[in-house]
Amino acid sequence: RKPPSRKGSMADVPKDLLDQIKRLEELFTVPGEKLKEITDHFVTELQRGLREEGSTIPMNPTWCMGFPDGHEQGTFLALDMGGTNLRVCEVTLTEEKGEFDIIQSKYRMPEELKTGTADELWAYVADCLQQFIEYHHEGQKIEQLPLGFTFSYPATQEYIDHGILQRWTKGFDIDGVEGKDVVPPFEAALAERNVPIKLTALVNDTTGTMIASAYTDPLMKIGCIFGTGCNAAYMEDCGSIPKLAHMKLDPKLPMAINCEYGAFDNEHKVLPRTPFDIIIDKESPRPGQQAFEKMIAGLYLGEIFRLVLLDLHQQPECHIFENQDISKLTKAYSLDAGFLAAIEEDPFENLSEVQDLFANTLGLTTTKPELELIRRLAELIGTRAARLSACGVAAICKMKGWETCHVGADGSVFNKYPLFKARGAQALKEILDWPEKKGKGRGDPVELFPAEDGSGVGAALIAALTLKRVIAGQN
Ligand code: BGC
Ligand code: MG
Repeated sequence: RKPPSRKGSMADVPKDLLDQIKRLEELFTVPGEKLKEITDHFVTELQRGLREEGSTIPMNPTWCMGFPDGHEQGTFLALDMGGTNLRVCEVTLTEEKGEFDIIQSKYRMPEELKTGTADELWAYVADCLQQFIEYHHEGQKIEQLPLGFTFSYPATQEYIDHGILQRWTKGFDIDGVEGKDVVPPFEAALAERNVPIKLTALVNDTTGTMIASAYTDPLMKIGCIFGTGCNAAYMEDCGSIPKLAHMKLDPKLPMAINCEYGAFDNEHKVLPRTPFDIIIDKESPRPGQQAFEKMIAGLYLGEIFRLVLLDLHQQPECHIFENQDISKLTKAYSLDAGFLAAIEEDPFENLSEVQDLFANTLGLTTTKPELELIRRLAELIGTRAARLSACGVAAICKMKGWETCHVGADGSVFNKYPLFKARGAQALKEILDWPEKKGKGRGDPVELFPAEDGSGVGAALIAALTLKRVIAGQN
């Protein structure tokens, strides 16, 4: 459903709330000039990441070394370990160029697992893969199936089938995994169960998104995720990665770089952080990390919103939810980005859907002026996220000197948050100074498109490309 164009009627909003709205607008609005400043600093940080090991933005080489040509063939498994689901796919790349068949099963990712032990995690993942094979290949004798494992966390890779977890992100907090290669314990859990699967490639979701999108659109140069977390991958040439110079790779060879730019500005030099962003960081399992991500990604949007409302309620001069039981609002992470999206999507002039939402979810009664403030706050947080997100994409384009390109994008925020795309496109235009559009129906020079399934098809394609390279005896 498209969000309505509705004029907020601030006319009957009392002075105390109006003052608060003004203050919030100042806190959360990022003007075009600031976006440019952020993007320029972003470019230097991306470049530093290509030069120096251990930089703020890691710029991880992924050993995914080239785009598919559409003629890849074979059957591959893909595993996507996400925040809410664990998905297993069997992808068959067929003879026809750029085509594939896919079967898949989804398993729940239990919340406890994210803060449990490493053994529990790998046992659960291996159980799901075993179930998948038993269900879809009952009674068949199968040979080892090659697997592309979409592991959407920062990993240091010296080979495509290994990866040392740099740090957990997105609220995962499992002891004894950071700093270690995640593949051996994963393979051990498979071996224990005699599951006939061989890990061929460990893949970031952004790399998968870029490759899957390029499978059907050769203009795709960047893969982005705007979901629970945020990040992007793009194709670099080995000659432009100074930190790999010692390996003497052919400078013209392509190498997908997983930027891990959620870590941008961990040293707090340019991002306009609010007191609420500072609380989010302090209370998170990894304070000081993922500064950029914590301002824009889906995991945090609802929480920023909740913290602001709570703060307003606690200020004596602001009378919001006065004399009501706010206990539900005090629970951390109780509101998700979907809640914010629903607020922005209410089509009714009197915001009756927002009113119901607050009554049903939080047990709070809301007045008309309160509803206006709530709506404006959701807009401010959603707009800031979209505008800051554009800086990462713009920075890659600026660094590479790309005046035009297609960007494959995926993730719950990109796909479901109303106006995210339009707000992001507007910000890109302000940052990159595009002239007014000439012909009608023309796309923007840098344009985001909903991606093909990167964590499924993309991971399978990367497994296919890897086997092709092994057979060709490269690297
Ligand atoms: C992770 C990235 C991932 C992104 C989107 C971030 O928290 O560090 O590896 O690509 O989320 O899922
Ligand atoms: Mg995902």
